[in-house]
Amino acid sequence: MSFLENLGATIGGGAKTALDKGKELKDVAAIKTQIASIQANLGKLYKELGKAYYDENKEAAAYSDKMAPIKDALDKIAELEAKLMDAQGNVKCPVCGASVEAGAQFCPKCGAAMSSSDSEIPIE
Ligand SMILES: [Zn+2]
Repeated sequence: MSFLENLGATIGGGAKTALDKGKELKDVAAIKTQIASIQANLGKLYKELGKAYYDENKEAAAYSDKMAPIKDALDKIAELEAKLMDAQGNVKCPVCGASVEAGAQFCPKCGAAMSSSDSEIPIE
């Protein structure tokens, strides 16, 4: 092999390596994206499983150390949602529990008729 052929092979090889490196980096990024996507979905599945387990076993002793803070958090959210409804001047839908504007005739979420005592007050 002549010097020039050798040089050509070396440059060609180097160029190919850089190309491979680029492809490799692209592959790594694609694989990392796939892993992140699967992990995000896995997180969602674990969350659903946890919620299903909690709903079925909230009174059970198993995992009570994990159940108690969840119950506390849910109670706190319910308390804050009631506070929020009050602050917004809204009332709770008796059917679905949605926050409904005071005076509305129907719940915008489930369509249930709202028994608004305000609208029943005769106008004098
Ligand atoms: Zn409703």
